[in-house]
Amino acid sequence: MSFRPILRFAPSPNGLLHLGHAYSALWTWQAASELRGTALLRIEDIDPARCKPEFADAILADLGWLGLRWPEPVWRQSEHLPTYAQAADRLGDMGLLYPCFCSRTRIAADATGTDPDDAPLYARTCRHLPPAEIAERLGRGDRAQYRLDLVRAIAMTGPLSFTQIGPTLRDRPQIRYARPERWGDVVLQRKDTPTSYHLSVVVDDAAQGVTHVTRGRDMQASTDIHVLLQFLLGLPSPIYAFHRLVLGEDGKKLSKSQGSPSLQDLRNAGRTPQDIRHELGF
Ligand code: GLU
Repeated sequence: MSFRPILRFAPSPNGLLHLGHAYSALWTWQAASELRGTALLRIEDIDPARCKPEFADAILADLGWLGLRWPEPVWRQSEHLPTYAQAADRLGDMGLLYPCFCSRTRIAADATGTDPDDAPLYARTCRHLPPAEIAERLGRGDRAQYRLDLVRAIAMTGPLSFTQIGPTLRDRPQIRYARPERWGDVVLQRKDTPTSYHLSVVVDDAAQGVTHVTRGRDMQASTDIHVLLQFLLGLPSPIYAFHRLVLGEDGKKLSKSQGSPSLQDLRNAGRTPQDIRHELGF
């Protein structure tokens, strides 16, 4: 049986792509070609408030303009919500999920530090709510998000590690230890959708047979949670590679909120796909 590497680029359609996304996509397609594998495109549109179909259309158009091709149909996370809910139910049956009713203000006020993304570390305020109070609050329509009980989860898994390659694919693979505890009790089901970034990524990477996860270094730390969820859900762990970030003139990561030009802006200003590839070093 031959082994065919499968990679993926998984943008969220909450805005237009900029050079940072182009770098990540080109890196992934180049890695797929070096490994003689396939690069898939996945649209991570679980956030009902921020994701828009027109941004998803723009992503397909921009990547096509850059000269990238992918197998159809494109996987859209919004079409797989019941599968994520099933995975969450499974964790719930293992006694690893609990409802949290805290507001953002409450979470920030009680925080015991910050997580790797600099967000307040959840103080497990709702972890020990009496079952009667939970039933009463859910019964009167209070909306809850569901968190992973990390203490219990880590007690089940023991120490975990993952395989990382890079900065180039010719480098020797390294074993990295995961430190999920630095994330605290992450949210696996949000109030507005029965999943979260962490849960759907892990479920989809397995469902799509992804063998190599390529993403920016800014997302390296989230691998801690992903390998933990893979273990708990009995899913295979891909190999991980983290590429450099494209920085603006101010030395900061490009972002929509900082006003970084979109690929469409660059195209409208007369830049060609070849210019973009050259500028990014491909
Ligand atoms: N959807 C995520 C983003 O746009 C990336 C997902 C991933 O690489 O796992 O930032």
